[in-house]
Amino acid sequence: MQQIHSHIYQITLLGFVNVYLITGADGVVVVDAGVSKGTVTSLQKNLAALGLKLADVRHILTTHAHFDHVGGLKSLHEAVPQAKIYASPYERKIVTGEAKIAYPPRSELRGMSWLMSFMLAGQSKPVQVDGLLEEQTDLDFVLPGLKVINLPGHTFGQVGFYLPEAHLLIGGDVMMHLLPRLGLTMPFRAASIDWKACIESIHKVEALNLHTLALGHGPALMGNAAAVVKTLVKKISQREA
Ligand SMILES: [Zn+2]
Repeated sequence: MQQIHSHIYQITLLGFVNVYLITGADGVVVVDAGVSKGTVTSLQKNLAALGLKLADVRHILTTHAHFDHVGGLKSLHEAVPQAKIYASPYERKIVTGEAKIAYPPRSELRGMSWLMSFMLAGQSKPVQVDGLLEEQTDLDFVLPGLKVINLPGHTFGQVGFYLPEAHLLIGGDVMMHLLPRLGLTMPFRAASIDWKACIESIHKVEALNLHTLALGHGPALMGNAAAVVKTLVKKISQREA
């Protein structure tokens, strides 16, 4: 567990996917749910280290409905039935099982992306959603000033959680920092439904001029996030030119 803000902790599950714990004004908030029921065990252990327990969890926010972010949601819901679950309007339908997530057609993919598309087929178990997350939705009940921003592209309805006062964003898979030696990268193309929107969302994040960027995969960028995002934006514009 790594503390990234006075009230926010990053926990990496299975060595590759992050969930976040926010010790908020209204109890504990969990962001994303990892892949499996192992999320519950890990949360329990990390909460205990903070003098907290599963019964203190009040809310579960989701960035997007890919299997590696909501695969563990059903087990988490069973472990913390008191907690309300939130998703964006588009992702809600996938979380509740009303719709299936869309991936780019395999015919458009090559190499690693083509191979990866077969690994992304996992469907999470349906779970109820209690609240909707939309652009500028006020999350003061989580942390004063925290709000939702839409970051579409990786999925149609991906959102991030932005704390302006700390210049901090929990950004889901808007970018990836999975292998820090490769630096900050765009999300996997095989998992990203609208590539143009992916780029636009990265520009939106660039404009936030962040200190801290906390993503779904890889360690958080702390202190220097704006400069690192700018470097990626430059690389993208050279590639797309
Ligand atoms: Zn994803």
